Amino acid sequence: MTIFQKIISRETPADIVYEDDEILAFRDIAPQAPTHIVIIPKTQIRSVAAAGPKDAVLLGRLMLVAAEIARDLGIDESGYRLVTNINRHGGQSVMHLHIHLLGGRQLSWPPG
Ligand code: 5GP
Repeated sequence: MTIFQKIISRETPADIVYEDDEILAFRDIAPQAPTHIVIIPKTQIRSVAAAGPKDAVLLGRLMLVAAEIARDLGIDESGYRLVTNINRHGGQSVMHLHIHLLGGRQLSWPPG
């Protein structure tokens, strides 16, 4: 079981900013920007690399929820970045699909 499944089950507390039947979003415990939200599906999918056609609508909804949260937090005009890390070279540390929403400061590009 990953730490994110424990957050879904409320076994581990988190600062939750959004929830619906399929999706949960909470503030990252180690924020990399003034706004750093993690958006996850409630079903266990390891990463985008492990997703399939049956997950297409859910993957789309994760992006739309991210945009909605960015609007709610007032960073849609200034801008933000959505990131999903995959496996070792992608820097994925929690093996439960998630999208990082990062904003509130100028983000550098390309990533290191
Ligand atoms: P990854 O490195 O897998 O792309 O992202 C995992 C993220 O989850 C990291 O940014 C990390 O700080 C965050 N994280 C890990 N454990 C916890 C936790 O217990 N609570 C919260 N809110 N975030 C966590």
